Amino acid sequence: MTPDEFRRHGRQVVDWIADYMEKVERYAVQSAVKPGDIRRQLPSEPPQNGQPFEDLLADMERIILPGITHWQSPNFFAYFPSNNSGPSILGDLLSSGLGVQGMLWATSPACTELETHVLDWLADMLGLPHSFKSSTAGGGVIQDTASSASLCALLAARERKSQFETNRRGVDRRFTAYASAQAHSSIEKAMMIAGLGKDHLRLIEVDENFAMRPDVLAAAIQADQVAGRHPCFVCATVGTTSSGAIDPVGAIGEICRHEGLWLHVDAAMAGSAALCPELRFIHDGLDFADSYCFNPHKWMFVNFDCDCFYVADRAALINTLSVLPEYLKNAATASGAVIDYRDWQIPLGRRFRALKLWFVIRSFGVEGLRQRIAAHVELARRFARWVGDDADFDLAGPVPLNLVCFRHRGGDEVNQRIMDRLNASGRLYLTHTRLAGRLTLRMSIGQANTRLEHVRRAWELIREAAGPA
Ligand SMILES: *Cc1c(COP(=O)(O)O)cnc(C)c1O
Repeated sequence: MTPDEFRRHGRQVVDWIADYMEKVERYAVQSAVKPGDIRRQLPSEPPQNGQPFEDLLADMERIILPGITHWQSPNFFAYFPSNNSGPSILGDLLSSGLGVQGMLWATSPACTELETHVLDWLADMLGLPHSFKSSTAGGGVIQDTASSASLCALLAARERKSQFETNRRGVDRRFTAYASAQAHSSIEKAMMIAGLGKDHLRLIEVDENFAMRPDVLAAAIQADQVAGRHPCFVCATVGTTSSGAIDPVGAIGEICRHEGLWLHVDAAMAGSAALCPELRFIHDGLDFADSYCFNPHKWMFVNFDCDCFYVADRAALINTLSVLPEYLKNAATASGAVIDYRDWQIPLGRRFRALKLWFVIRSFGVEGLRQRIAAHVELARRFARWVGDDADFDLAGPVPLNLVCFRHRGGDEVNQRIMDRLNASGRLYLTHTRLAGRLTLRMSIGQANTRLEHVRRAWELIREAAGPA
């Protein structure tokens, strides 16, 4: 493809995306294809000779599009959102165009410096503790996902607890870690990958609001200490995936500080809410945290992937993950005056993700982001009121932010039927969880273009789906 051809096809693609944005609402939200439907339409062998770009685009529309679930539909209420925006897509496109690999400061200084700068901006935008800013001993880095951030935090915790001996000697099997029974599955996975073993993750009981019980945490840590184990890591969740519960970070943090445990705070979804001063209570106690992460790729209009990971002591992280082979040695690294983000993450290579984040923050402005987040929270509260006022439905937990967990009073079968009917209709998409043993529907509101009319219609459809067939 010559630059001229690229120009022509690039415009076609941008037009295609703009058209998609305009009509995304008209597609059935959840793809209805059956397993194998997409592959059956693809030739078994790759083409020997190049094919015209028009054919590629046509097949993308003919074969791929039916197999797409429309995460950008304003009627997408499933899981958590993975919203995006024009500025983000264009920032990502420029990142592809530049094609830089930002493993070291020296491999593209702007890639590193913009990242450091934008993460400092975000620390201020969310009112995060000063210790997370790059002017201190701490700092921020962009990871692909919260899963990776939590794994890095666990590794650093383990390393710090072993006086930085684990990397040389291998894992001491006596380490234990703690998270609530409602914590994200990525914590369990991190235990598996780190070689600590998921049996050494203590899933701490939650209270009636599905938040971790600090008294149970303290008791579990003590029991492990008495048994000769080495508690090293606690993950507190701000906004659990299942129900949006907020662990009491301050009380947990006091225990961690007293016992010398690393506190990681996983706010993958909820963190964006702290853009709004009136919602900043979600971060109460964050001063205790050794690390923190949230996902702009969920609820801050930055397309997947983009997780912001902060540490209060970057030396602990870097000493955990740094290796320096001869072929990466360079004067800037040796001078100690630059950040080399390869030492802050699992892989060596890294994309220029700061560009899309920078574009989003500048295009929306802090105030623009705030207004959109606040609007989602307001929609969720309104929806929760409708549920609360309906004789047939109950709220299944508090609604601090933009996730409403609720259920029909008819029991699990009725709720399953409601969800299946709605999702098959294609008119909206929502998913479920299980709370206190009962099937519970989740209404997660955070799609960039979801407005009151969409939420209102969703509620009508939900009530309709609860009726007779
Ligand atoms: C979504 C979510 C994760 C996992 O996010 P990834 O970025 O996909 O790894 C982790 N923790 C919580 C609380 C989440 O909501």
